[in-house]
Amino acid sequence: MNPSNSFIEQMPKVELHVHLEGATTPTTLLHLAHKNKIALPADTVEGLQEWYQFRDFRHFVEIYLTSSQCIQSPEDIEFIAREFLKEQARQHIVYSEVTYTAYTHWKQKGIPFDEQLDAINRARAWAQANLGVDMQLIIDMLREEPKRDNNMLVAEWAVSGMGKGVVALGLAGEESAGPTERYIEMVRYAHENGLSAIIHAGEIVGAHNIWDAIEMLGTARIGHGVTAIHDAELLAYLAQTQIPLEVCPTSNVALGVARSFEEHPLPRLKQHGLNVTVNSDDPPMFNTTLTREYQKCMAHFGFDLATLEQLVLNAVRATLLPKMERSQMEVAFRARFDSLHTQLGC
Ligand SMILES: [Zn+2]
Repeated sequence: MNPSNSFIEQMPKVELHVHLEGATTPTTLLHLAHKNKIALPADTVEGLQEWYQFRDFRHFVEIYLTSSQCIQSPEDIEFIAREFLKEQARQHIVYSEVTYTAYTHWKQKGIPFDEQLDAINRARAWAQANLGVDMQLIIDMLREEPKRDNNMLVAEWAVSGMGKGVVALGLAGEESAGPTERYIEMVRYAHENGLSAIIHAGEIVGAHNIWDAIEMLGTARIGHGVTAIHDAELLAYLAQTQIPLEVCPTSNVALGVARSFEEHPLPRLKQHGLNVTVNSDDPPMFNTTLTREYQKCMAHFGFDLATLEQLVLNAVRATLLPKMERSQMEVAFRARFDSLHTQLGC
């Protein structure tokens, strides 16, 4: 392997936009399906891999719902969290802020939120001790959920998890399904309790949705945000404020947000001075990994290693960790970059 690819594989990383359920691999899913006696469209890893490949949004939702059905108990949640953290460790992703849809497991299977959170915290404790990696959670509301009380419940869960691994209230789901106004009350409640909000906006829907996420919901980062490229005023605002963007290139290409990697707006967003980070979103469904996202940035955008290191450090600074921890992580990352350059001769 060429030294640059080895460097990208081994460099320490942080991930800010990845969905726990969406990161479940075919192997993990098959294990849970057997255990819980749930029929899947295929019963081999190879067959499931084929079914997993992204076709269109409807198929994507079908995979998501099927995956979710295979998760039946707190033990299953602990299992997917452990498998997720093993994969993050394999990629040298030492810290992740992971979107987790507790609402689905409560609504479909009646698993109380505190039992879900305990299960994830058992996996975290195991990963901290055995793998040296950690994650914290963004508990998301869904754009598809119209009921005020259900969304408020999610906000209350998120606040109740502060100090126990929850770092933000999120808003995800199909972006055009729910108006931003609907979530003002929930986000206000989170903010009043000192909890940040992180909103998916500007993926499928235009730049006006990013403005709404900023002005109505005071989002700490923007989940995706790539449609900002069409709004000069917004580009100037984002460059000035440095609100981080969680860009997921392969996901954008798969969902048709960008026609191809070559046409993806990430390099242009960077040229405009925006605070851009690179992420994998739902990696097995898009046949990617965070490592591969960085390798593709080099291959398709012509970014050199110094630029990739900057993108990694952007992500470190954009975490919701306390300032001291962010600074310590940045120092440790810079030292590791230097030793990798020496070791690999690149
Ligand atoms: Zn997402």
